[in-house]
Amino acid sequence: PPVGEKYEYQAEVSRLMDLIVNSLYSNKEVFLRELISNASDALDKLRFLGVTEPELLKDAVDLDIRIQTDKDNGIVTITDSGIGMTRQELIDCLGTIAQSGTAKFLKALKDSKDAGADNNLIGQFGVGFYSSFLVSDRVVVSTKSPKSDTQYVWEGEANASSYTIREETDPEKLIPRGTRLTLYLKHDDKGFANPERIQKLVKNYSQFVSFPIYTWQEKGYTKEVEVDEEPTEAQKDEQDDKTNKKKKTKTVVERYWDWELTNETQPLWLRNPKEVSTEEYNEFYKKTFNEYLEPLASSHFTTEGEVEFRSVLYVPAVSPTGKDDIVNPKTKNIRLYVKRVFISDDFDGELFPRYLSFVKGVVDSNDLPLNVSREILQESRIVRIMRKRLVRKAFDMILGISMSENREDYEKFWENFGKYLKLGCIEDRENHKRIAPLLRFFSSQSEEEMISLDEYVENMKPDQKDIYYIASDSVTSAKNTPFLEKLIEKDLEVLFLVDPIDEVAVQNLKSYKEKNFVDISKEDLD
Ligand code: ADP
Ligand code: MG
Repeated sequence: PPVGEKYEYQAEVSRLMDLIVNSLYSNKEVFLRELISNASDALDKLRFLGVTEPELLKDAVDLDIRIQTDKDNGIVTITDSGIGMTRQELIDCLGTIAQSGTAKFLKALKDSKDAGADNNLIGQFGVGFYSSFLVSDRVVVSTKSPKSDTQYVWEGEANASSYTIREETDPEKLIPRGTRLTLYLKHDDKGFANPERIQKLVKNYSQFVSFPIYTWQEKGYTKEVEVDEEPTEAQKDEQDDKTNKKKKTKTVVERYWDWELTNETQPLWLRNPKEVSTEEYNEFYKKTFNEYLEPLASSHFTTEGEVEFRSVLYVPAVSPTGKDDIVNPKTKNIRLYVKRVFISDDFDGELFPRYLSFVKGVVDSNDLPLNVSREILQESRIVRIMRKRLVRKAFDMILGISMSENREDYEKFWENFGKYLKLGCIEDRENHKRIAPLLRFFSSQSEEEMISLDEYVENMKPDQKDIYYIASDSVTSAKNTPFLEKLIEKDLEVLFLVDPIDEVAVQNLKSYKEKNFVDISKEDLD
């Protein structure tokens, strides 16, 4: 083959490839999931950019993914008609690690090493493109961006520190647009070139890919053919001409190869919620958001009337920023689709207020224009209505967790996202009624387990008018404040506000169920 220009991998890539090839063997087949998800991303990008730049779609090829296997030679090719890569993109994307998914993986790997955990992480995170080297000795990426006139070939080998790039010169290998990956399988992994095995894996891993995936399959059909029957000697004597020849029918199997549609392309959110199982919601969540923990809760709904949209929302199991970090509104947690076309996941409070930015989900609307821009989103009346409904649904979902029989669920939620809701007390007056019942505090009568405001109110003395609190930096120091004594004597419960934001949150609420919050350290305490 023609020799290409040689490039060195960025150091992190070499390290990652080492890890993949030498230690992360446990779940090799995930390579297919990673490569299909890249193909699907590339198609998404093209479809999205094509809305504003229709010239990108000038080559009228269908948006799909095709996987072909060559069992005898141990070769798998995966072809998509997506956005492809220019020469520079090949260098940037396949020679360096800038991508969040992969970076996240490396971090988790580091964390788990520290914790002495096992290295099954590759199955949970995926390491993107480089997972192709789990099963391949050599990988060839031939790609044509609609922005470039030239098709380029990237070629790399397992355990190498460099790769090459050259122009595609073989006219038989030219594609109108997109990317073709050719995997030359390792000796022990040639089984992946078995068409039935690939088909099974595709079915397993591509459940939520919204583009058709075809696999190259051998097919057969039976047909009846007429064959001349060998005449017996006696018949031979009788026969004087061919019109008398005896005919017999025989069934034969005709074999041929053809593309077979292998996945279902109906997006999960378009399905009837009654027909979707919890497992499917959880799988969808993990695949869509590159998560490895199951969500705490999910909610799938359709709204009709003034504005129509469908949505699946989730509450994650853990806060991505950790317990103490500040709230980051730019989380890429909400994926907006318009008529099934992915539009954006880059929001800054347009669809959810800042304090609910931990909620993840997909939203699909038929009422927004396909070329919806940031400005349109910010101005749109439709978006404002959507936002209202989404917020309400998010609260219903959280309330659902709080009413779960399993008290631990909500404790977990509160530990991770309590501070977000307290921020909501400050930032969203309109939703105080929804937020307040979700708050939790320690109290003088419950130092170990947090209580809700409802529980506090329930426990109030018949003549008690106010909700008492003391702000402090810990339960221990709250317990020791001199102000507490009198109230304890009278058997009055006092909330311990031990998080710095608690006091501000409560002051913003002012009251709950018409009972005012009263600071017991204030001099005018009755
Ligand atoms: P990630 O998908 O998390 O970005 P990958 O390692 O899987 O990380 O891929 C790295 C990058 O390579 C992608 O972000 C994309 O820009 C590019 N890429 C990979 N596969 C394709 C493809 N089939 N078509 C176009 N670009 C691709
Ligand atoms: Mg990827």
